[in-house]
Amino acid sequence: MADKFRAILVTRDEQKKQSAALTEIGEAELMEGDVTVRVEATTVNYKDGLAITGTAPVVRRFPLVPGIDFAGTVAQSSHPDWKAGDKVVLNGWGTGETHHGAYADYSRVKGDWLVPLPAGMSAHEAMAIGTAGYTAMLAVMALERHGIAAGRGPVVVTGAAGGVGSVATALLSKLGFSVIASTGRPAESGYLKELGASEIIAREELSGPAKPLGKERWAAGIDAVGSHTLANVLSMTSYGGAVAACGLAQGMDLPASVAPFILRGVALLGIDSVMAPQALRREAWRRLATDLDRGKLAALTTTIGFDGILGAARDILDGKVRGRVVVDMRR
Ligand code: NDP
Repeated sequence: MADKFRAILVTRDEQKKQSAALTEIGEAELMEGDVTVRVEATTVNYKDGLAITGTAPVVRRFPLVPGIDFAGTVAQSSHPDWKAGDKVVLNGWGTGETHHGAYADYSRVKGDWLVPLPAGMSAHEAMAIGTAGYTAMLAVMALERHGIAAGRGPVVVTGAAGGVGSVATALLSKLGFSVIASTGRPAESGYLKELGASEIIAREELSGPAKPLGKERWAAGIDAVGSHTLANVLSMTSYGGAVAACGLAQGMDLPASVAPFILRGVALLGIDSVMAPQALRREAWRRLATDLDRGKLAALTTTIGFDGILGAARDILDGKVRGRVVVDMRR
């Protein structure tokens, strides 16, 4: 390991004003942990955008290396499950929030947080999926556990042109579901159809105040948006259906009524990727290795270098990022 290596550090001044800059750190500045990983690829998720810009209090310890996920190779390990040379993936567990995260050439973490990089998947592909894609898989698995199968009817995906939405669309379509993609970017209709959406609806159809019950339009939903959008998705879910809630791009509120729950037996399924137990993570990554079309994954991915992270963080909050952004740390 070099004496100094690249890192982004988020710092806070005496007025509690937060800023992020490219810098260098040394091994001694890495945090506690029993596995040191050479980061080969990372990504810019919505949460990373919030962390880097300081738009929401994602970073809760200063100074901190942001970045909630990475794929790489173990450089050093005193953990029984991992040895130097193992290929690993990390999502969440507070990295990029309270523990130094992905935006450095090396990250030291707890071995218990790591999952093996699935066989046949590159670090680049794992980060094209990233936490957004792994969350989309958790959402699909939650719907399946609720008994939602392809024959039940269409599934609506909100924020469809974003990271969670793009991977959810590709996954659901590969699994045989008919996907209704809701987007605020009509120019991305062709992109969403290529990922497997059979119908595109405008974001505005779902973003205003919801009626307690609307016309039954879909059997299930994967919602990355929250607020009125989630309320509308619930109100238009057919009898016995389910909605997996995983995001808050419109807002953290939920201005809904209980009508879909008590009159249609609709279920609201909460999705958390950060503290999800190991068994669920491993299952999600196994499924991602088989149930996600690699050609579609490539089509939804843009690759940038380390120098592009700060710009991508602003872009994702401005809704300018389509699909997923991979940071290739070799660049
Ligand atoms: P992206 O920015 O890539 O996607 C969000 C999408 O939401 C945008 O592309 C846009 O889609 C839509 N959108 C943005 N702003 C609004 C708005 N004001 N009203 C309605 N729709 C809007 O982010 P990610 O896919 O990385 O994350 C999506 C959400 O999921 C975030 O809120 C994130 O925090 C959350 N998340 C939660 C996780 C968990 O563990 N529960 C894990 C990962 C992410 P379009 O242009 O198609 O309309």
